[in-house]
Amino acid sequence: MRPARESRYRVLLVDLDGTVIDYARTENSALREVHRRFFRSGLRAFLRDFHAVNEPLWAAYRERRIGLEELRLERWARLGAGPGVAAAFEDALGRHAVLFPEAREALRLLSRRFQLALVTDGLPAVQRVKLRRTRIERFFRQVVIAPEAGLRKPDGALLHHTMSLMDAKPDDSLMVGDSLVSDGGCAREAGVDFCLVDRTGGARLPDASDIPVHWTVTDLGVMWWSISMSVSIDVSADLPADVPADMPTTSP
Ligand SMILES: [Mg+2]
Repeated sequence: MRPARESRYRVLLVDLDGTVIDYARTENSALREVHRRFFRSGLRAFLRDFHAVNEPLWAAYRERRIGLEELRLERWARLGAGPGVAAAFEDALGRHAVLFPEAREALRLLSRRFQLALVTDGLPAVQRVKLRRTRIERFFRQVVIAPEAGLRKPDGALLHHTMSLMDAKPDDSLMVGDSLVSDGGCAREAGVDFCLVDRTGGARLPDASDIPVHWTVTDLGVMWWSISMSVSIDVSADLPADVPADMPTTSP
């Protein structure tokens, strides 16, 4: 952590899935519902098959080899299912959306000190339902859903677009997200510092050592606490010599 740097941030560009929303849990609930309704194979095989087709399609999407509409249909076509199942899955994703336990309070506290913008990729209709269901939109001054702007992660242009809406610059902004490739990639392209929210302890991170990570936290609550402490340390550096350096100057 570099305290002097953190205190200069004015705008946080925050990812949604896997950062604020517990996407693994949300997706798992939606997949179980779809399996119950439409598939006769065993659940374990179904989940394995879905992930085996879904993840490479998202990689193809990030690399601009396919579009979003193709992705949403193709992942089910490869499992022998049609557009009706695709729509049912998307509907279930919205209904099953759940936040990480600390996310709401952390967003509330962060939104009092920083200007927050949500920067998410994915199907716009699904992302809107997730936001309505979790009632977190109020914490964000801007909500940018990449395809609505004709962009996708990891385009640096996505962050430039968001920063222009926030009247912000790369130097006073911080990208916060769980994906090295998508969020870290955006940040690198846009010249914005990147805070990695790594809830896995590094266990599931891809090899992307060319992506700079300025800061790593285990969840958003830790981020709030750390950023408060860093501001406190910054302020204490300016105190007169007779004030103990470890005296708390702000509360986390
Ligand atoms: Mg994410």
